[in-house]
Amino acid sequence: MPQTLLNYINGRWAASRSDASLERENPAIGEAICSFADSGPEDVAAAVEAAAQAHQTWRFVPAPRRAEILFRAAEIMASRKEELSRDVTIEMGKVLKEARGDVQEGIDMSYYVAGEGRRMWGQTTPSELPNKLNMTMRQPHGIVAAITPWNFPMAIPCWKLMPALVTGNTAVFKPSPFSPLSAYNLVRILEEAGLPPGVVNLVFGGDQTGAALVEEPRVNMVSFTGSLEVGREIAAYCGRYNKRLHLEMGGKNAIIILDDADIDLAIEGAVWSAFGTSGQRCTAASRMIVHERVAGVFGDGLVARAAALRLGNGLEAMTDVGPVVSRPALEKIERYMEIGRDEGAAVACGGSRASGDGLDQGYFFQPTVFTDVRPQMRVAQEEIFGPVTDIIRCSDLEEAVAINNGVQYGLSSAIYTRDISKAFKAMERISTGIVYINAGTIGAEVHLPFGGTRGTGNGHREAGQAALDSYSEWKTVYIDYSGQLQKAQIDRPEGEA
Ligand code: NAD
Repeated sequence: MPQTLLNYINGRWAASRSDASLERENPAIGEAICSFADSGPEDVAAAVEAAAQAHQTWRFVPAPRRAEILFRAAEIMASRKEELSRDVTIEMGKVLKEARGDVQEGIDMSYYVAGEGRRMWGQTTPSELPNKLNMTMRQPHGIVAAITPWNFPMAIPCWKLMPALVTGNTAVFKPSPFSPLSAYNLVRILEEAGLPPGVVNLVFGGDQTGAALVEEPRVNMVSFTGSLEVGREIAAYCGRYNKRLHLEMGGKNAIIILDDADIDLAIEGAVWSAFGTSGQRCTAASRMIVHERVAGVFGDGLVARAAALRLGNGLEAMTDVGPVVSRPALEKIERYMEIGRDEGAAVACGGSRASGDGLDQGYFFQPTVFTDVRPQMRVAQEEIFGPVTDIIRCSDLEEAVAINNGVQYGLSSAIYTRDISKAFKAMERISTGIVYINAGTIGAEVHLPFGGTRGTGNGHREAGQAALDSYSEWKTVYIDYSGQLQKAQIDRPEGEA
């Protein structure tokens, strides 16, 4: 019997008020793995109420003490890495070694943020007046709604919850209906690590549950990772009600390969970036912008490698590429095959569902390379979110950068070149939030900021010190120990105009 996952509100595990539930299946084999609460507005309201109550005390717990709990959570995660990783694979399909990377990123983020509990520095500065000191300190927003996608079901919730908690916020966490198991595992760990009731609350559910959470008047900040369409809706709502908002959305990431590049290295990076996690990373490279002099050799190499990738259940050691997350995802990718062909792109390999050899019950799509792609085609502009990449020819660095920057998204880009001045020019001119030199478009480290420009984000960043800025606001403090009224800008030292 698959397990039933309950909401976690004010330190108690409970079914949704309506008792409604949803199911999640394993996308590799199409079998149900768990059911979980389908929460309505009343469940959301109860979770927000718990977070509001808990915030009254949590914000005054010294940050180093808050951080100790997060450190313990990291320790528990590390001790259970293997079982947590298997659950990631079972519920969203990525191959086990990548699932281990997902969990490791969650562990790294938790340790990193735990260290911040003892830093969380503000500034002290001299005053323009004597006997006066000025300083800044961080303050939490209050109640943070963390709304997450399914493609990094351990890493992304940790990216959000850990910095939100260490800075003194309380949270309501609404995970994707495609990855409830990892959300449950993470919140169980936080409970076990000693997080007081109400500090983190978990409400399972679909898109309506997320919308109800955004619209809950007591939610002060929304931290959302997901699609551009949903992010824009949330942004409109938050704008109207002046809620703090952190958005991380889609990508149409590119690798530029110049004619002086190490082509074998570029092919390695392209295969990993385009087909890792079945192309379902926000940073997946879905465009290869290749100098016309090397487009043939690069394309042949990429196609040969793509065609040789082994599809299968991510739990099996021989599998290179797992399923995509769901039937609608598979159907969306299929529609893009038609769109691409209609626009005049050629399918050099893949192009359809994969079947046979244990694949028939799951959602498998063949690794696909489109050639003859022009920059303005829909397959070169829109996020397909599957194991599909394009080859677009260019004639020099300037044109490559223009193509790279000519999409509505701005998450991650890469360039392969042996020419150091071209590498630096590219670094400067590429307008995405993340740039890799002689490496693929994926592979973030938690102590650096992560996020995108233009349609990918709203100027905030996950991870690194930047995460603290997302989850806190500055308070400016003036301390006057002169014992008299001193007027800034008006009282000047003797002799000054
Ligand atoms: P999605 O937008 O469909 O859903 C994301 C989350 O939002 C889910 O929990 C969903 O239930 C919830 N949701 C949906 N409609 C909502 C609404 N109206 N109000 C509030 N919540 C709502 O995205 P997805 O399919 O889960 O994830 C894939 C997308 O996420 C891709 O576009 C990918 O690029 C993006 N992504 C971006 C990053 C990044 O850091 N930039 C990282 C991972 C994934």
